[in-house]
Amino acid sequence: MSLVAENESIIDLLDRLCAVVPDYPSPGISFKDLTPVFADPTGLRRIVDELIAPFAGTFDLVAGLEARGFVLAAAAAYASDTGMLTIRKAGKLPRETFRDDYSLEYGSGSLEIHRDEFEPGTRVLVLDDVLATGGTVGSALRLLELAGAQVAGIGVVLELEELNGRAQLPETKLVSLQKV
Ligand code: AMP
Repeated sequence: MSLVAENESIIDLLDRLCAVVPDYPSPGISFKDLTPVFADPTGLRRIVDELIAPFAGTFDLVAGLEARGFVLAAAAAYASDTGMLTIRKAGKLPRETFRDDYSLEYGSGSLEIHRDEFEPGTRVLVLDDVLATGGTVGSALRLLELAGAQVAGIGVVLELEELNGRAQLPETKLVSLQKV
């Protein structure tokens, strides 16, 4: 059963259901755990609907960033009758990939995308749970460009305002449901 009333605002819903975990995964990091929102039937539908509404009709595929971005992107692709791309941590995709190295709030990493999953010029909406420094989304945008996509925009549930990730990204429509 859902803990969310249909008329509850997205901000109230996120304030209530997002779990904030201090000093995880390392000291000084305030981890925003959205899994209680994903686990709520109304919560998941509401955040996915709000993320895709501003981009209605402007994208052909949704790209999810491993791992929590997959939850949002799969639901968004289903709801918008489009398909989904998985942008994964290095070494997980079985076929030929493009690879990009990046840094994030608590470490660094590499992302990959399959080389041949869509036609050049395909319009792709990028979804993830949290925008922190912008390193991860920035990496995804570079990969999509390498693979020939046209980025339709970026949607994130939470934007950590003090890290100013938005300023690190190229000029692209970026929607966040809540700035924290
Ligand atoms: P960044 O590349 O610094 O923008 O970090 C964004 C990525 O790291 C997203 O995929 C998030 O899932 C994760 N992330 C970074 N910081 C946090 C945080 N404080 N709480 C939850 N997830 C985070």
